[in-house]
Order: sequence, then C-alpha cells, then structure tokens
Amino acid sequence: MLVDGVFQSEPFLELIGNKIVDASKDHRPVRIFGELVALLWAEEKRREAIQLEAYWNTWLKKYPFQLMCAYPLHDLSRQAYERDFVELCQSHTHVIPTESYTAFTSEDASLRTVALLQQQTASLRVEQEERLAAQRLAQAKDQFLSMASHELKTPLTSLQGFLALVQKYETTQAGGNDTILRCLSLMKSQIERMTRLIGDLFDVSQMQAGTLTYQHAPFAIDALVQESVETVQATTSTHLLHLEGLCAAHVNGDRDRIEQVIINLLNNAIKYSPNADRVIMRVERNIGFVHLYIQDFGMGIAPEHQHKIFEQFYRVKQTQKISGLGIGLFICREIVQHHQGQLWVESAPDYGTTFHMILPRSADETPFPEGE
Ligand code: ADP
Repeated sequence: MLVDGVFQSEPFLELIGNKIVDASKDHRPVRIFGELVALLWAEEKRREAIQLEAYWNTWLKKYPFQLMCAYPLHDLSRQAYERDFVELCQSHTHVIPTESYTAFTSEDASLRTVALLQQQTASLRVEQEERLAAQRLAQAKDQFLSMASHELKTPLTSLQGFLALVQKYETTQAGGNDTILRCLSLMKSQIERMTRLIGDLFDVSQMQAGTLTYQHAPFAIDALVQESVETVQATTSTHLLHLEGLCAAHVNGDRDRIEQVIINLLNNAIKYSPNADRVIMRVERNIGFVHLYIQDFGMGIAPEHQHKIFEQFYRVKQTQKISGLGIGLFICREIVQHHQGQLWVESAPDYGTTFHMILPRSADETPFPEGE
C-alpha cells in the first residue's frame, strides 16, 4: 500500500472496506487491530502514520467497526516526537496508557501516579539541559584550546628566531658577556619549555578534531632511541640516562611522533624521580614487534591512579607540586595507538615506575645479523 514511500489510501480502502462489510453481516460487531500505523511509526514515517489514522477516522463514518491501535512506547519516546504524539492521541477517541498505569484502585492513586510522572519528566528535562550545557562547555573548551594554542605558536616562533639572533650577536660581536649569555640561555630554555607546552595543547586539540596528521616511513629504532636519549641527557645534570639493548629493527611510522613519545616518557622519568640519579631506557627486539622500557626509581604511581594517568588533564594529587598540564601521557598513548602499538605502566609507590611501549616492526626491515 506504499508506493515510493507514500501511502495509497484507495487500494487499502477497497481491500479493508470489503472485509468489513463481509464481517459485519448479520450485525456482528467488527473490531480491527491497526498494526500498520505502529509499523509506519517505527520506520520513522510518522506523518504517514498520522495520515493513516485520519483515513481510519473517515472510514469509521462509512463502515460499522471499532479500531484499536497499539504503539510500542519506546518508538514514541523521543522528545522531538512530542508534537506528533499529541496529534496521534488527538486522532483517537480514547487513549489508554501502558498496563502498569491502568490498574488504579482510586482517583487518589491515579493522581499520585500522575504527580510522580510529572516529577520524573521534570527531572529528566533538567538532566537533559545539564547534559546539553556540559556538551556546549566541552565544545567551547575544545575551540578555545585550538584557537589559543594556534595563536600562541606564532609569537613564540618569532621570539625563538630573535633570541637566536641576539645570542649570535652577543657571542660574535659583543665579545660574550657571561651574565648576558647565561640569561639568554635561560630565556632559550624557558621559551623551549613554553613551546613544548603549547605544542602539547595544540596536539590535543588536533587529536580531538581528528586533524592530526602523521608522516609514515620506515625508520631504525636504535638510532631514534639513541638520539632521544642524547637529547634528554643534554637537558639534565641530575640524572644519568643508561641506554641498554639493541634491536636492529625498523618501525613503519612517524619518526618525529615516536621521538616525541620517548622524550616525553624520559622527561617524566626525570621529573618524577627528584631524589634519584638515573633512568634506564631499554630496547628489545621480539618476533613482530619492538619493546621499549623506560624505568625510573622515583615516587611511583599508586595502583588506583595507574589507568587514569593516560586520561586528558589527569594528574596524581601527590605530584601536583611538580609542574605539568597532565596531557603528555594522553598524547603518548594516542600516538602509540595510532601506530597499532601499546603503551602501559608498571609501578610501585616509592620504588619507581616503568613505562612499556611496544610497536609493530616494519615488514620490509633488513634481517637482524644474529637472527631472531
Ligand atoms: P604531566 O607530567 O604534565 O602532569 P602526564 O600526562 O605526562 O602529564 O602525566 C600524568 C600524571 O601521571 C602526572 O601528573 C604524574 O602524576 C603521573 N606520572 C607520569 N609519569 C610518571 C612517573 N614516571 N612517575 C610517577 N608519576 C608519573
């Protein structure tokens, strides 16, 4: 009875009309169960369902029958359906709610139930409004993060450029005043720190927007690990970084992004072990993947925090005196997962922490000299 999704009343009327006439012979009462309307509604054809109810009402004037329609409540339960639902109820002479609301023993009992339903509806509305407000707030936060990190990057880049010029001038032209050179080098490390923080914020906003891009190419893990360790070693005088193991394996991925993960984990290892003097970075080759370990001997992480530290902006309360934004590990895990790898933590409070990272090996790497 639907042609191109449009209900055809004439053939339907002819079919049903004849049946009603047959069934009502000898003045027998005819009752019809109208299932089609509910089926149309379930298929999101709400206007057609209402239209069909209107047809039934016209035929009621012509033929002797009673029509009963049943609608599953879950198909009516969207707030956007409210207007159609009212219209649907208006097209019926009687509306009976679901069974649990039809067995009242007194008017008082039914009024109490209505009051309870009103309270439940009101509380659902409030909850929905709160959820929408929270969604809007989260959206505004993401937009702000994206805009602020983008806007802050530009002046920082030019500051870095000018600082390099002044440093060069001071050493070559001005003869190199020690105090000025020291101040300039402090400025440089603070600008670098700020660049990292803003870079992290920018990464998070891109990850949320799904616009972070990766440049994939096969690269050697050993060289990358060596470079990362050297880079971080140059920034610390308190810790000695020990590099253990060799894997002679390649990974197919974004080298800079994997370097970012290793540097982040090494920096954390130093930052969260202020009373220790060493960090171990270990590399292992396994069948199909490489396994990287970054171990420190610092404050450790209690078990109840271990799965949460990878969430955005999560910081363990005891470490809040140490500066940080709480997004480094979130970024690390996103990057590792993008490479079909895994990143997890093993830790015991006061004994230290080991971060484990595994990455799939590239299929086209050169064979390992000693074999597997
Ligand atoms: P940030 O260091 O900026 O706070 P991260 O996302 O890198 O952000 O880390 C989240 C939290 O996990 C840190 O605030 C800290 O509480 C905890 N954490 C990370 N690395 C270590 C570690 N090596 N030892 C102890 N706690 C750590």
